[in-house]
Amino acid sequence: MRIILLGPPGAGKGTQAVRLVERLGVPQLSTGDMLRAAIAAGTPVGLKAKAIMDRGDLVSDDVVLGIIAERIEEPDTRKGFILDGFPRTVAQAEGFDRMLEQKGLKLDAVIEFKVDQDALVERIVKRAKETEARGEPVRKDDNPEVFKTRLEAYRTQTAPLSTYYEGRGCLRAVDGMRPIDEVTEALKKIVG
Ligand code: AMP
Repeated sequence: MRIILLGPPGAGKGTQAVRLVERLGVPQLSTGDMLRAAIAAGTPVGLKAKAIMDRGDLVSDDVVLGIIAERIEEPDTRKGFILDGFPRTVAQAEGFDRMLEQKGLKLDAVIEFKVDQDALVERIVKRAKETEARGEPVRKDDNPEVFKTRLEAYRTQTAPLSTYYEGRGCLRAVDGMRPIDEVTEALKKIVG
């Protein structure tokens, strides 16, 4: 199963991706996690990405496409993957289509999380508080100001992807405002 989860930050893609991984037995590929790991490891990619991520903008298409190209060569992706946070621009989607074509692979579904974007700022404040309460470090880009920049990046650069994938006939949607378990059920209906 090769699945893309599409939706703004805070829509619940990560939470659902973890559940899909368990059920489908394929890895979650989160470019955000990979970039944070690169920053923690102090790699050249990490050094390039840090300031951009801290202010809530998007890292360059070339960098992200490079990371994904390498990642889908790993043997654990042979049965598929759940993409969470990638692609985020039409250029990334086109680049990814080319990668899949070269490998003779096809996407099974692109699932868009439909959410009320005004409610997301509240969600992100809650996520930051919960993380803090668990004694874990809060993501620097999970503060309301940076979050607004991330939402704007979604609106202008990522939202056009729903039209892109609609045109390819693989776009499905779930209501991301429903409780977590209901979203999981809706996803089950789509991907089994
Ligand atoms: P996320 O964990 O998916 O919310 O991503 C956190 C940050 O990483 C984003 O705000 C971007 O700065 C960067 N990022 C993650 N994935 C991508 C991507 N596909 N394209 C560009 N930037 C990305």
